[in-house]
This record gives sequence, structure tokens and C-alpha cells, in this order.
Amino acid sequence: MKFADLHLHTNFSDGTFTPEELVLHAQKAGLACIAVTDHDSVEASTRVAAGCAAVNMEFVPGTELTAEQDDTELHVLGYFLDTSNAKLLGEIAKFQAVRQNRIHEMVSCINEMGVPLQVESVFALANCKSPGRPHVARAMVKEGLVRNLDEAFERFLKKGRPAWVPKSKISALDAIELVHQAGGLAVMAHPGLNRTDDIIPSLVDAGLDGIECFHTKHSTAMSERYLEIADKYHLLVTGGSDCHGYSKGKPLIGTVRLPYDHIGKMRERQKTNRKE
Ligand code: AMP
Ligand code: ZN
Ligand code: FE
Ligand code: FE
Repeated sequence: MKFADLHLHTNFSDGTFTPEELVLHAQKAGLACIAVTDHDSVEASTRVAAGCAAVNMEFVPGTELTAEQDDTELHVLGYFLDTSNAKLLGEIAKFQAVRQNRIHEMVSCINEMGVPLQVESVFALANCKSPGRPHVARAMVKEGLVRNLDEAFERFLKKGRPAWVPKSKISALDAIELVHQAGGLAVMAHPGLNRTDDIIPSLVDAGLDGIECFHTKHSTAMSERYLEIADKYHLLVTGGSDCHGYSKGKPLIGTVRLPYDHIGKMRERQKTNRKE
């Protein structure tokens, strides 16, 4: 049996693996196909594609967009998109600018609480255009300001905590449209984590192509629930580990294994979308 892991981050967002390290770990995990889905970024795709080609592994270009619907954050995965699409790159540049400003705002809030975190140490550690809360948390650990990542999130960075700052405001419907106009498939990421089931019908009406049924943080019952929903709305079934490298314990890559035949179904749907 061949397997895919369709949810992976690199150090072009908040993962710790370089594109080349990601491919090495995918090989070790025995994967036949991987997708890279950095937050608000497609920059790793060229290097991951080259690494995959060298070891005869299938590569799916992707991204993970932060969207919002009815005041709830949800993540929209884009797969098989044209990573040189001008509109996509323009919007991504805006999301990245918001992320960079947000780092300054978060660090200011942390400083106001009397914690001397320097913004330069966060940017130095992040070293990418799409920085996020994990970089702030890792910098705090590195500087000895908290014991671990959980403490940083619990005390400062979680929604509702003093240094929580919202991100971009693209609606889920616009995110789906952005992925589609770049020739990609739009998939709802880890629906079990966002309490967003009520909005699935409206996303389906907007052209949602798939739903991430298998994810590290989905229980078996959750996966079964989303498989039923996928069946009901004729959505593609996807899955991935959401590996961020060595961020917390062992890398998750390959711990969620999507049977390879789903990749064929994704390609077919992409062809149909293009004809429409
Ligand atoms: P951001 O995109 O900046 O809002 O950050 C979101 C990222 O933070 C996601 O990749 C989550 O996996 C990660 N995250 C959320 N909560 C925690 C936590 N308690 N510990 C470590 N990472 C977390
Ligand atoms: Zn992440
Ligand atoms: Fe996510
Ligand atoms: Fe992710």
C-alpha cells in the first residue's frame, strides 16, 4: 500500500525542518507522496519539489490559509495550486505583512506585562516571511522567559490571553475563491479543532472541494464523523499529520497516513473543476 501525508510545515512558516530535511523524514517514514502546507506561504514548494523529484516521491504543492467565518478562525488548505499565480502571491504577501506586524504587537503586549522579550530575537529565530505564535513561544523558551511552549501559550499567546492578537481577516469563502483562481483544490483543515461544523454547508455552496478527515488531533469518532460529512456533500477526503518538525517531541510526519488512492480522486476533481 502507498500512503500520503498531506499536511506538513517547513521552516518557511512555523515548522523546524528545511525543505530538504522534510523530504528526508518523509522518505524515512516510507511515504509515497507529500504535500507542503505552510501557513500563508508557498515559498518552500520549489525546494520540496526538487527534493521529492530526486528521490522519486510525489509532491503536491499546497498552503494553509488562515480564514475566518462568523467570528471563528478556520484553516483552508489549498492543494495542487499554481504557486506562481500572481493573485495568490499578492494576497499571501499581505497576510505575511499582517503576521510580521502582529509579532511586534504581541511582543509589545508581552513587554507591557513586564517580560523583557526582544522583538529582534523572535524575528531572528523565525527567519521567514510568515512568522507566527510558535516563533514567539520558542524565542521565549530560548531566552529563558518561560519553561516551555505550553507555558508561553497558556500565559500569553492563546486566544483570550493578554498577548493574543488576531491575524488576517480573509473570509473562508474568499479563501476558497483564492485557491480556485490559482487552479487549486480548497480543503477544510482539521474541522474537529475549530467547532465550525455549522458552516460546512455554506462552504460547500462556495465550492469547497474536500475536508481533512484524518488529522493528528482527530479522534477516531471525529474522523468517522467527517467521513460521513464528506460522503453527504460529495467532498474529497484528505488527511495529514500537521507535522511541525521538532517543535514538541518527536516529528509527527507519517503518523497520519492517507491511502494513496485519494490523491487520484483529488487529481480527477481538479480536472473537473478546470472544465467548469
Ligand atoms: P498562528 O498561526 O501564529 O496563530 O499560530 C498557530 C500555530 O500555533 C499552529 O501551528 C498551532 O499548532 C500552534 N499552537 C497553538 N497552540 C499551541 C500550543 N499550546 N503549543 C504549541 N503550539 C501551539
Ligand atoms: Zn503551524
Ligand atoms: Fe491549522
Ligand atoms: Fe498546519
